[in-house]
Amino acid sequence: MPGAPRPTAIHVDRAQCMGSGMCIMYAANTFAHDDETKAVVIDIDGDSLEALHNAVEACPTGALALVYESEGV
Ligand code: SF4
Repeated sequence: MPGAPRPTAIHVDRAQCMGSGMCIMYAANTFAHDDETKAVVIDIDGDSLEALHNAVEACPTGALALVYESEGV
């Protein structure tokens, strides 16, 4: 996705996250599990934009959302 803006944040809905680890599989430098097996963002610039989109789309519960500055947080 050349020229596409990178997200300024990634929102993880902890209530929705069921710890499948799909996001970590697709973007291992961006996501990790915390001690409750919920996804957390460890480095927002850790992976390519394509990997981030793949991770969001792969999440089985729709717990992830890319946030862009203009949308607020
Ligand atoms: S893919 Fe979704 S449900 Fe699975 S760990 Fe990541 S945020 Fe949680």
